[in-house]
Amino acid sequence: MISSKLPDVGTTIFTVMSKLATDCNAINLAQGFPGFDCFPFLHDLVTKYISEGYNQYAPMSGVPIFKQRIAEKTKLVYGVDFNGESEVTVVSGATEALFAAVTAVVRPGDEVILLEPSYDSYAPAVVLNGGLPVYVSLNLPDFSVDWDKVKSAITDKTRLIMVNTPHNPCGYVWTQDDLNTLAELIQDREIYVVSDEVYEHITFDGRKHLPLFSHPLLKERTFACGSFGKTFHITGWKIGYCLAPEKLTIEFRKIHQFLTFSTATPLQYALADFMVEPSRYLHLNDFYQNKRDLFCQGLKNTPFEFTPSQGSFFQTVYYGHLSQESDYDLAIRMTKELGVASIPVSVFYHDKTDHKLLRFCFAKEDDVLEKALDLLQKPFF
Ligand code: PMP
Ligand code: GLN
Repeated sequence: MISSKLPDVGTTIFTVMSKLATDCNAINLAQGFPGFDCFPFLHDLVTKYISEGYNQYAPMSGVPIFKQRIAEKTKLVYGVDFNGESEVTVVSGATEALFAAVTAVVRPGDEVILLEPSYDSYAPAVVLNGGLPVYVSLNLPDFSVDWDKVKSAITDKTRLIMVNTPHNPCGYVWTQDDLNTLAELIQDREIYVVSDEVYEHITFDGRKHLPLFSHPLLKERTFACGSFGKTFHITGWKIGYCLAPEKLTIEFRKIHQFLTFSTATPLQYALADFMVEPSRYLHLNDFYQNKRDLFCQGLKNTPFEFTPSQGSFFQTVYYGHLSQESDYDLAIRMTKELGVASIPVSVFYHDKTDHKLLRFCFAKEDDVLEKALDLLQKPFF
């Protein structure tokens, strides 16, 4: 019998809840993926490149014009320079970038600070590299960072901190103070940062996403992980990138080349053409702001309590004043009995801390959101 390297890990909650939603014919607001297609022009571009024979391996670190376009977009949106050739790596989804970045820096016995609730792939990546996750919980109710707790968690063994802004599942968006404080805390130590910024273009109420590399000290230490899945509604394409200074990129690519080697060639050429037009990603905030507002407006007619999400395409709701049922049981029961699937937030805590919160994904057509809201307004508790 194989001795498991991840004995506590089962099938991800996203797979479990999506299957349950399908089995129960429920509206799936659980797993985070858009319920609508990408722009048809993007289909045409991929078809074009496949027909024209762009069907063999791409260069290991990415197609040059695509890396260049990613660097140009980063300069345009954030005013920060990255060298397309030596500091941008194309990967098969942000999940790969996160794993490769963790693997590049974490050695057995190194401590890695994870801010909880945290995305489900972080801790397994740390553990598989022999690292020790050190969990620091975010402040309730807004899920801001408790910097005193982070400070006390830092030791001589701390090698890495993992950051996610805008935050999945809670929507918190880092402020300039957060960036400055992190920089102060790590400046005199050899601590790196893996920054998961896949929701960079989804922030609300006039908030701006601040990439960690917009801070000069953090830029030197950070692997910034992005995903085209969220930005262009193509989660099934599994294509993303890592931005990091050349020294870090050299180590990152050593891992990337043996994880996947390279990423689908026609997708890279198609996206390189598609992204030249900034309006194709700069309006994403407005697009999702409308959906968040519609969803939150409808939630007001339900018994749930909530604070509108600051970013990402997720909204969490609190039900502790209605029931003491565990969030996991409630999410399952709501899928079966009410016909709306959600994610219990406890799954994002290593010890399954249950704050009586459910996460809904509002990246769905408006009529689907309205139907779900009608169901959520029914007496249930
Ligand atoms: N990080 C976060 C916070 C996510 O929500 C997701 C996916 N939804 C990922 C990483 C993974 O992105 P990808 O699908 O590009 O691997
Ligand atoms: N990131 C998505 C979510 O949070 C799910 C991705 C996946 O299923 N692996 O729901």
